[in-house]
Amino acid sequence: MMMLTKKMIEIRNILQAVGQQSALILPSIVVIGSQSSGKSSVLEAVVGHEFLPKGSNMITRRPIELTLVNTPDAQAEYGEFPALGLGKITDFSSIQRTLTELNLAVPAADCVSDDPIQLSIYSPNVPDLSLIDLPGYIQVSGLDQPPELKQKIADLCDKYIQPPNVILAISAADVDLANSTALRASRRVDPRGERTIGVVTKMDLVEAARGASILGDRKYPLRLGYVGVVSRVPPTSGLFSRGSGNITTAITKNENAYFSAHPLEFGPESELAVGTTTLRKKLMHVLEQTMAASLQGTSDAIHQELEEATYEFKVQYNDRPLSAESYLAESLDAFKHSFKEFAESFGRPQVRELLKEELNQRVLDVLAQRYWNKPITDLTPALIEPDPLDNLPKADPENLYWRRKLDASSSSLTKLGIGRLATTNVANALQSEVEQLINASTFSTHPFARQAITDAVSGILDERFYSTSDQVENCIKPYKYEIEVDDSEWAKGRQNVSDVLKKELKACEAAEKSVETSIGGKKKMKDVMGYIDRVRKGEVVLEGDGIGGGGGFSAALLAKGREAVFLRDRASILSMRLVAIRSKQCTTKSNKYYCPEIFLDVVADKLTATAVLFLNVELLSEFYYNFPRELDLKLGRGLSGDEVERFAREDGRIARHLDVVKRKEMLELVLGKMESLRMLEGREGRREEVK
Ligand code: GDP
Repeated sequence: MMMLTKKMIEIRNILQAVGQQSALILPSIVVIGSQSSGKSSVLEAVVGHEFLPKGSNMITRRPIELTLVNTPDAQAEYGEFPALGLGKITDFSSIQRTLTELNLAVPAADCVSDDPIQLSIYSPNVPDLSLIDLPGYIQVSGLDQPPELKQKIADLCDKYIQPPNVILAISAADVDLANSTALRASRRVDPRGERTIGVVTKMDLVEAARGASILGDRKYPLRLGYVGVVSRVPPTSGLFSRGSGNITTAITKNENAYFSAHPLEFGPESELAVGTTTLRKKLMHVLEQTMAASLQGTSDAIHQELEEATYEFKVQYNDRPLSAESYLAESLDAFKHSFKEFAESFGRPQVRELLKEELNQRVLDVLAQRYWNKPITDLTPALIEPDPLDNLPKADPENLYWRRKLDASSSSLTKLGIGRLATTNVANALQSEVEQLINASTFSTHPFARQAITDAVSGILDERFYSTSDQVENCIKPYKYEIEVDDSEWAKGRQNVSDVLKKELKACEAAEKSVETSIGGKKKMKDVMGYIDRVRKGEVVLEGDGIGGGGGFSAALLAKGREAVFLRDRASILSMRLVAIRSKQCTTKSNKYYCPEIFLDVVADKLTATAVLFLNVELLSEFYYNFPRELDLKLGRGLSGDEVERFAREDGRIARHLDVVKRKEMLELVLGKMESLRMLEGREGRREEVK
């Protein structure tokens, strides 16, 4: 014996791991028999433990693929359900409970399920065997059993008793063999009796002479023969053996006692095969032989599978090798590279621009609030007060009113909380840039990586946030007290703010245009605006409060009209101020009370420059230094093999690619093993011939 079965079971496990089981069936011993024929008892005698579901109402509803693995050097005996991940179970009554639960989980309406339960048992006391226990045939349907149950069980058994499987047909001695459902089923698929072992149970229930004649029967000849057993656990030992202990000794003792009590019928002279031990040996031998016979076929099938996998690998994946690790490493490198490119393009000048843009908006807000017309928010007639800006040309530097106004305006900027504002802006910019980098990278299809990267970003930014914003706030402090402006700053501010106002004017006009479109044309807009203007001047009285509309216009239309009036007024102020800024009076900084726009722009510019200085050191450089390291930690060295695999498989395309690569590798491995087994087997075969 060359432990072929053991090796083949190992090979089967490898194949199972790559989901190749159905394509490459290795032979198993399939156990069939009627209910109560003693099928469970035979299996348990072979295993040496009671582990199968029992109970008057308990029928097996799913095939059990039972793999017995001989572990000669181990002490412990244990079972494992590889698909359930319950770990090693040393208590066989717990295996029994699990099987019972799995059985009960099959919906009654389905009767039986052909989804097999896989169970492996490791023990120094079991032979290497691969057995499949099937639901027992039922003769008469019970009252509470669905009528189609009988047929469904028969169909399920038919599926399994096909070649190359060996059939273990169980019949009870106290039932006429001609009536054995198991033998009848086996004869249908194995008419010449070449791959069926007959087991006759309950030999103790018939006269020894009759038992012997059953075993010697020539009516249903089987090449692999019949074995008679008494495989029931004797009642006396039951108390001690149940659940935990090994029952082999108790059974064989009882069995030997019976057979040796009838030496005439069952002694060596009789040449009849009897006893559980004999049965075990036979099973091992037959399976080993069947495995050997199927070596070539299995090896051919694996070869073909391998060819298919190789072809798929070539055609679909261009022979491009891939592992989860290499995929992650490449993705990470590419991502870091794109980040580096970004980091090089987003430095001080860009941060400056970003912040100045933000502060320009704030300057506009301050101007609107303190100098320009208040926007109309409702339709209550506005007091016709002189536009404050009309006073500007006379804005006298000695006049306290204008001094206070400018001081307050510049204070609103310096006390804006620029530290937080600037830090938030830059942090947001970094965050959204990384987000875009993710979207453009292979990580876009990987929720796990996306999360890890986002976490890395916010981790670093959160850590730096408060210190950065404090630093920035501290450094702009002097501007809260005094702001010195020189001529060149003034000139620059004048240019800059006129650009800002021009841009704002354009935006205003564009917005007005889009309101016009939504109102439904120029004419209609003019009508609504005219009405609103008349209301504001007090020439017309608005009916009600405008909620139900007015002047023949709906409320929605009035709202749009108000928006248009607001935009028109703002545009006209902006144009006016542009003219003022471009005028001669605004060329010199001594006229700052007359040109608050320029002065505020200079303030904003100073604040920006100072903030950028610190943001660059405290936030940007820190981020650029730490982020790639954090990435390495979160997506590189820090991950376990399982995590890397899980990551790669998040992308269906990659998962399929990995599967093909893995299948190919496994099949190559298995084929290598098979080839060496065949060579060994060939040599062994020749040696047998020589003998
Ligand atoms: P299954 O329904 O085919 O799995 O049958 P079991 O193994 O559960 O056996 C049915 C009944 O027959 C049980 O009460 C067993 O104790 C009993 N039995 C099984 N084998 C033998 C045997 O060899 N001799 C005797 N006397 N009873 C047996």
